[in-house]
Amino acid sequence: MRKNTKEIKIGSLWIGGHHKIAIQSMTNTKTSDTDATIVQIHALEKAGCDIVRVAVLDEADAYAIQSIVKAIHIPLVADIHFDYRLALISLASGVQKLRINPGNIGSIERIREVVEACKLHQVPIRIGVNLGSLDCEIREQYGRTAMALVKSAEKHVRILEELDFHDIVISMKASDVPMTIEAYEIASRTFSYPLHIGVTETGTFFSGSIKSAVGLGSLLYQGIGDTLRVSLTDDPVQEVLVAQEIMASLGYFSKPTLISCPTCGRTQYNMIPIAKEIETFLQTLPHVSFKVAVMGCVVNGPGEAKDADIGVAGGKEEALLFKKGIAIRKIPQDKIVAVLKEEINKMIEKVVSK
Ligand code: SF4
Repeated sequence: MRKNTKEIKIGSLWIGGHHKIAIQSMTNTKTSDTDATIVQIHALEKAGCDIVRVAVLDEADAYAIQSIVKAIHIPLVADIHFDYRLALISLASGVQKLRINPGNIGSIERIREVVEACKLHQVPIRIGVNLGSLDCEIREQYGRTAMALVKSAEKHVRILEELDFHDIVISMKASDVPMTIEAYEIASRTFSYPLHIGVTETGTFFSGSIKSAVGLGSLLYQGIGDTLRVSLTDDPVQEVLVAQEIMASLGYFSKPTLISCPTCGRTQYNMIPIAKEIETFLQTLPHVSFKVAVMGCVVNGPGEAKDADIGVAGGKEEALLFKKGIAIRKIPQDKIVAVLKEEINKMIEKVVSK
């Protein structure tokens, strides 16, 4: 059961409430290099990214937003630290969400100026607190704890609420997985605003995917999280694909998925490269619920993968094609990938045209 949170609009996209959990990523190009940034955002859109964030470090980045928003099809978020003028330029340039911590902008006049501009442009603000940048007062009182993250977020939230601003999204990130989970659990009991969830600084593809799956998976399973980002030291497109996989494994996202056995002494064909190639192929297909099995043997394969729409179970240098657990025909080893792709394409076309 999703936790019910306040509905917030980012450009044309609604988040919170019972709206779909949105997948976010962040570009790693220099934002003012508009060509490179747009190319990367198009790749993210193609992969299924719902919201994209860009770092705004200087005026050139903030002004570049004007051309970027015109060329892309998903809402754009400007990530700004400290400099309220960059927030104002980004808003005037058409950005659809700000990630800025009001308590770090400076005087109340500056905060008010940014908040009034957000109201004018109907742009929400994400407060993003990070364990690495807690203010001294909170760190002294709560240490480096989950509660410190929540209290820090609360401090920024109060500033916005006192200015009668309520289009707020909250994130609290730490690289420690249990602490991140605990912070979001407390936050979901404390705030009614949507939560952007993520584990930060998780590392490269391998460790980052695992840490994110554990952290985000635990939260999503409890119904916590309205938008999410998997942070990887890798191509941002990989972040989107990993996020989809995490969400699909909990039933929050429909996509073709692979079921494959771990192989054992009964496997008598070269199965592992086939499973890998089919998994990559599935990433290119439309986002519909569809299960493909690549199994090691005919003894247990079709039975173990009974809920697969289609699959193969290996024999001696050949495989048996099955649909919904029913045997169809045998395929020689060198034709397995081609036949399977062709059959999957046919079945997916039918699902899409329904
Ligand atoms: S499906 Fe067959 S080959 Fe694969 S793990 Fe099970 S018994 Fe072994």
